[in-house]
Amino acid sequence: MLKKTAVITGASSGIGLELARLIAADGYNLIVTARRADRLQQLAEELKSLHGTTVSIIEMDIAKPFAGDSLWQAILSITPDVDILVNNAGFGEASSFADESTENIERMIHLNISTLTSLTRQILPGMIKRESGRILNVASLAGFQPGGPGMSVYYASKSYVLSFSRSIRRELSGTGVSVTTLCPGATQTEFEETANAQGTRLFNLAKPMNAKAVAIAGYRGLVLGCGVVIPGLMNKVLAYSVKISPTALALEINRFLLNKKH
Ligand code: NAP
Repeated sequence: MLKKTAVITGASSGIGLELARLIAADGYNLIVTARRADRLQQLAEELKSLHGTTVSIIEMDIAKPFAGDSLWQAILSITPDVDILVNNAGFGEASSFADESTENIERMIHLNISTLTSLTRQILPGMIKRESGRILNVASLAGFQPGGPGMSVYYASKSYVLSFSRSIRRELSGTGVSVTTLCPGATQTEFEETANAQGTRLFNLAKPMNAKAVAIAGYRGLVLGCGVVIPGLMNKVLAYSVKISPTALALEINRFLLNKKH
């Protein structure tokens, strides 16, 4: 029997890398993307020897305008049939908005929002036609928050991912295609350094979860067709406490957590 195919963006490190390992162990062939092709090559060798996985590598910067369409063209040249789509690639910036470069802001919005949205749009019709498909969009606990003073664009981008994913999940009800949103809290990956978030209370007050545990929760949710997955008990409490907190208080707590001057 032919193996099914999973596409994973941002598989060169962190949560995406761990998801790739889990999905390959479950018998899927992979199409993986990131900018660091050497990392993806190492992963491909590991998964080939462990599970006989065929891993196709697409080395691409997907934080550019219309990257979702470019990525889809590259995927099409490998196969038109995608059984699992994991939109995982993303980055943040711990900075006051006035200090953030417009280039960084544009790239973050392209990567976290536009590419995720366009790639989903391109892959979806095939899934609907086959009446089968699973999509995992990686948002964040930040997506539940009313805002993140000190990381404003990132928090807003993850609220978009959560809202968008919930909406299309509902639209797709009864089609055989499910959409799961993974909302991790602080996690030990390269994200903290890339986001320049070392020294924030967010990453220092409690020990961040490890990426493998987050990926296991996300993949289990995907397989079960869950709507929203929040890994870890404390993160679940934090997500739901937002619902009962006044907005001004939640914003003040987030400002405290994201502040680096302490
Ligand atoms: P990570 O270790 O930094 O991984 C990010 C991945 O995205 C890497 O594979 C990176 O690959 C890829 N990526 C970044 N910019 C890219 C670009 N321009 N083009 C192509 N690929 C790009 O961080 P992570 O924590 O695993 O992040 C995965 C997802 O989890 C993100 O969406 C993040 O927002 C979310 N998340 C993380 C945390 C956390 O605390 N770690 C919490 C909540 C949500 P290359 O650098 O090789 O291109």
